[in-house]
Order: sequence, then structure tokens, then C-alpha cells
Amino acid sequence: MKKIEFDPKVHIDIGLAAQCPICARDAEVYQRKIDPTDVYEGWCDRCGGNVRITQSAVQEAEAAGKRYPLISWMRRRPPEARLQTVKRKDVAQALRDSPSYTVLEKLDLLLSVVGDTTSHPGAESSFDYLMDYPLIYAVNDVGPASRPRSPNCAT
Ligand SMILES: [Zn+2]
Repeated sequence: MKKIEFDPKVHIDIGLAAQCPICARDAEVYQRKIDPTDVYEGWCDRCGGNVRITQSAVQEAEAAGKRYPLISWMRRRPPEARLQTVKRKDVAQALRDSPSYTVLEKLDLLLSVVGDTTSHPGAESSFDYLMDYPLIYAVNDVGPASRPRSPNCAT
């Protein structure tokens, strides 16, 4: 898959402060300065790699208070779809189609995702709660399904 990278002729250079407009975390996502200028594009591991999304699409998710289901939807798209621009209507449809899980259902989903990221029973999972929390529809990486930040937090 071709990675969308920073291009000084295409993107506004904001230095090291680049942030993903979807997950609002550090990422290599930039606003375009040439047409279409209302598009953010780049790379965010948390949002599934290549990101290309319009400003109005981001605002649609933000207004609904539902960035995390959008991230989950973006992560589950096939790799070839990740180069297409996500528009406002795509976000509206994704949010309408997103399931709503209880905490217990999210824990089941977590076990399923951890199982999917394990090569064989007993092997260590590649699930990274800091990056993969959107896969279990968690709002952030400190939700009830995430592990404690340090052993001292465990009870
Ligand atoms: Zn992101």
C-alpha cells in the first residue's frame, strides 16, 4: 500500500506539531494547500494508516461526539479504500451503521480482537491498547477495557 507522505508542494508545513484531525493525537497528517484545500491527508497508525478526509467530515464526527466509531470504521476498511477521500456523507453513514456496545460487549470484543492479533494460542498478542483501542469502540486508551498504566495501579 502506498503511504501518503508529507510533500512541501502539496501540504501546509506545521513542523513537528502535526496531529491527526480525527483522533487528535500525534500523527503525520497535514492539510493540503493546493486544491482540494479542505482535505487532511497523511498517515496515522491509530486511524488505520493512510488518512484522507475532508474538514466537513471531521466536523460531522466531532459534532456528533463520535470520533471513536469513525476511527473504528476507518480501521476496518480494506487497504485499497484507505486512499479514497472520506467525505461528510461517508461519516454520516458510518456513524449510522456503527454498533453500540455495552461495557461487557466491549470486553468480549476485546478478547476477540486480541485473539485475532495472536498467531496461535498462547502466543503474545500484537494488540497495542494505545493504538488499537478504536477497534473495541473505546473512547480512548484509558477506558474500562484497557489495562492499568503501571503495575501499581492494579488492585
Ligand atoms: Zn488518527
